[in-house]
Amino acid sequence: MDQMLEGIIGATAIIDDILIAGRNMEEHDKILKQVVERATKHNLRLNFDKCFVRKAKVAYMGHVITDKGLLPDPAKIQAVVEMPAPQNKEGWPDLKVETPFEVREYWDSRDLLSVLDGIIFKGLNIVIPPSLRDNMLKLIHKSHLGMTKCKKRAREVMYWPRMNTEVERYIENCALCASYQNQQPAEPLKPTPTPDLPYMLVGCDLFDFQSKTYILTVDYYSKYIDVLPLNSTNTTAIVEALKSIFATHGIPTTLRSDNGPQFSSSEFKKFSKELGIDHQTSSPHFQSANGEAERSIQTVKNLWRKSDDKHLSLLDYRTTPLEGIDLSPSQLLMGRRTRNTLLASKEVLKPNMNNSMNVKRHFDREKEKQKFYYDKRRGVKELPTINDKCAVRMTPLPGSKEWKQGTIVKHSDKPRSYIVQRSDSENNRLYRRNRKHLRTSTETASKDINRETTSDNFELDNLPNRIETAPKEANDNKLDVSKERDEEVMRSDVTMTKSGRLVKKPEKLDL
Ligand SMILES: [Zn+2]
Repeated sequence: MDQMLEGIIGATAIIDDILIAGRNMEEHDKILKQVVERATKHNLRLNFDKCFVRKAKVAYMGHVITDKGLLPDPAKIQAVVEMPAPQNKEGWPDLKVETPFEVREYWDSRDLLSVLDGIIFKGLNIVIPPSLRDNMLKLIHKSHLGMTKCKKRAREVMYWPRMNTEVERYIENCALCASYQNQQPAEPLKPTPTPDLPYMLVGCDLFDFQSKTYILTVDYYSKYIDVLPLNSTNTTAIVEALKSIFATHGIPTTLRSDNGPQFSSSEFKKFSKELGIDHQTSSPHFQSANGEAERSIQTVKNLWRKSDDKHLSLLDYRTTPLEGIDLSPSQLLMGRRTRNTLLASKEVLKPNMNNSMNVKRHFDREKEKQKFYYDKRRGVKELPTINDKCAVRMTPLPGSKEWKQGTIVKHSDKPRSYIVQRSDSENNRLYRRNRKHLRTSTETASKDINRETTSDNFELDNLPNRIETAPKEANDNKLDVSKERDEEVMRSDVTMTKSGRLVKKPEKLDL
């Protein structure tokens, strides 16, 4: 507001009240015109009902300004006047404990206090009596400015003991601000530990290159990459391709993929169950946990753009020692150098098993280093854990700006993630959300959460996952070694009772 009025002499603003003063009608009108023009330019709407024009006397911030000078506003001053005055006519007592209880909190600032026209000032700031503080808080936060700005605005013109804390609490409890917050800062990098053995943990993903679709797998231990072209992107084609890759390297213990429909189909579930693979999917909206595969896709695309032989360029990648370790993906996975187009002696091609624990230790040390610099550069801190039944706000999904209200049901079995129930909507959906995408909120949880719909017990852990196939969020953070898996939307017709028990909605209500 102050900035908006900059340069207009005769117009001032405190909080969002604008005061225009001229020595005569002509000057007044001229300034008014300037202010209105400026407000229009700044897209600021003035409420005509609250505008008073060409007045000889106006109430403003606890004062009545008249042509005779400044008078206290009788309506506002009542509360100030009723504030108990120090009993000691001589001034403040020497000791804080001797000060009357009602004014004891002003003892520290006693030297700065003055009274002018019945209004108490601390320095140049008006001391706001308790009865007016709620109104002032409302005024301070009227435009829903952030915490720092609001505190600054308040500190400029007014004072009461613990004003900062009260402003903070007021804004923390503002539902509108809670709905439209900024993204949280990144959390510390949490690298996936290197698996103990080759081909235990494998990431896979699909990608397009020159209008053809490919499936890529990468071993987290050796960084060995396999790529196969796909004629179709349905589950059958993907299962076929994976089987062929696993026929070469063996079946991985764990397979990571994104949450694409091909990977979340029942056919894929059946496939991973049959082969005894623990299939982990990353979040539908917050891609990041499948980092190894995503990075490998970039590696392959970079190779292919510069090469006219896809297979030989892959062979080059597999036979080139990885950075920081004198071993190639082929050596790490197969225990031997595979022959490429370069000349190599028989000796060099002999099998040579490397100690997998040394390899693991080496990679993990590298990741720690990377984490250290990543965290340091971004100044990131671990977010505190959230207790069950706490009210939270969830990061808006891509395309939305609104932080949805929810309540923590419990910790998820996944690291740093929580099961959250939306508390503001028609549905009773449960969500798995990463800590990074949750903000604790001081709002009280909405009544809906506590509504008990039926007495049927329903175990959360047995809930089938409902997978969303929403567009992926662009992952601008390619550096991540690999962030942990994130949330997926879960079963919708479950509700949490007062006791925190999860119950299923009766079918007749399930419209
Ligand atoms: Zn607000």
